[in-house]
Amino acid sequence: MTIYEADWVCPASSGPCANGAVAVENGRIAAVGTDLQLPGPRIRFSGCAIIPGFVNAHAHLELTILRGFLEDIDFIKWIRTVTASKKERLTREDLLLSARLGIAESLAAGVTCVGEVMDAGVSWQAMRELGLQGVAYQELFGPADIHVEESLKGLAGKIEALRTQETETQRLGVSPHAPFTVAPRLFRAVKDYAKKERLPVTVHIAESAEEDLYVRLGAGPFADRNRERNFEVEVAGCSPVQHLENCGMLDADTLLIHVIRIEDKDLQVLRRTGAAVVHCPKSNAKLGHGVARVVEMCDAGVRLSLGTDSVASNNVVDMFEEMREAIFMQRAHTGKHNALGAHGAFRIATLGGAECLGLEKRLGSLEAGKRADFVVVDLNDPAIQPVYDPVQAMVYSACRKNVRATYLGGEEIRIDAGPWMKQAGEIARKLVAAP
Ligand SMILES: [Zn+2]
Repeated sequence: MTIYEADWVCPASSGPCANGAVAVENGRIAAVGTDLQLPGPRIRFSGCAIIPGFVNAHAHLELTILRGFLEDIDFIKWIRTVTASKKERLTREDLLLSARLGIAESLAAGVTCVGEVMDAGVSWQAMRELGLQGVAYQELFGPADIHVEESLKGLAGKIEALRTQETETQRLGVSPHAPFTVAPRLFRAVKDYAKKERLPVTVHIAESAEEDLYVRLGAGPFADRNRERNFEVEVAGCSPVQHLENCGMLDADTLLIHVIRIEDKDLQVLRRTGAAVVHCPKSNAKLGHGVARVVEMCDAGVRLSLGTDSVASNNVVDMFEEMREAIFMQRAHTGKHNALGAHGAFRIATLGGAECLGLEKRLGSLEAGKRADFVVVDLNDPAIQPVYDPVQAMVYSACRKNVRATYLGGEEIRIDAGPWMKQAGEIARKLVAAP
């Protein structure tokens, strides 16, 4: 057993404790508290806080290579460039390198668990190689009824090929992309498949004005694009969230991504169905999509988590920044000085994320029996000192650079991303040179 001591231990499942310790044995947390009288070597992190690894509940690690490639362009062009890059310009090897780089960035920033939406499917390999925990959701598309069978067959094949590699905390899921790329019949079929296979589901919903137009009126650029390709556009005539409910998509095993454009009635739908939400404040703001009604979702009892989305729309994996932005935007939006709060944001960035991914029994907080996935945050920084409340200090003042060490299953993880960065530079040059 090894005992890790710090000025503060912030378990997320309970309040911070001063001069605390975390005892680790065989990759799991054996005990948490002050004055632990246990045998074994002691490692002291002076002036630091030990926290659970962050749970980034929405990412696209395969797109790390597109950081900086899509700046200041409209959403339609943004999506088209992402799609063209993935399908026509980047090889599987490129995307694997991209995912590895994203994982190196995430671990260095204290993220130990993700809700990863993968298209090529190579993030799963990178997660297994580097030990990042979480759910890898296989994405699928199929905007018209003619795509349903083929799309579903493709999905089942990909999932089957990987299922034997699952562990308790590296899980697979499925992700039908969004209403303008997934026909209603495909939504229903995927959810049926997911229920049968006991797979969690995640879906982008209520993100943009263009998507809202598509669902409510069958109009706008996404509808035009689908009609150009001779795909029938079904008019749902309701909000995107209600559209998903009508497609049988909403229950406690579905995690909704973004959820910005919602009506009052949608809050009731979320509450009634138990669907969870991953809030991506920086991505939502950067792409000009708006501010989600997070305070109202909290008040309605909706399960919430925090996600960065891909670095193509973020651009940095920094959960401190994400927590801060979530709070600041809610306050700017509602005029309430106490909207969300530091402790609330810290909880959704850790245990709340684990709950939304269905992994809360095994990770997300510092509690005996859980995986020893924890992070040492160095508070010895003039920008953070003095510290009155460590959670408030981290949420309002810290950044990814204050992460001193990241532990996965009780082992400190250090990755030399130098060679990958060099390769990423070469791939970026190829992308820029492409017609
Ligand atoms: Zn996304």
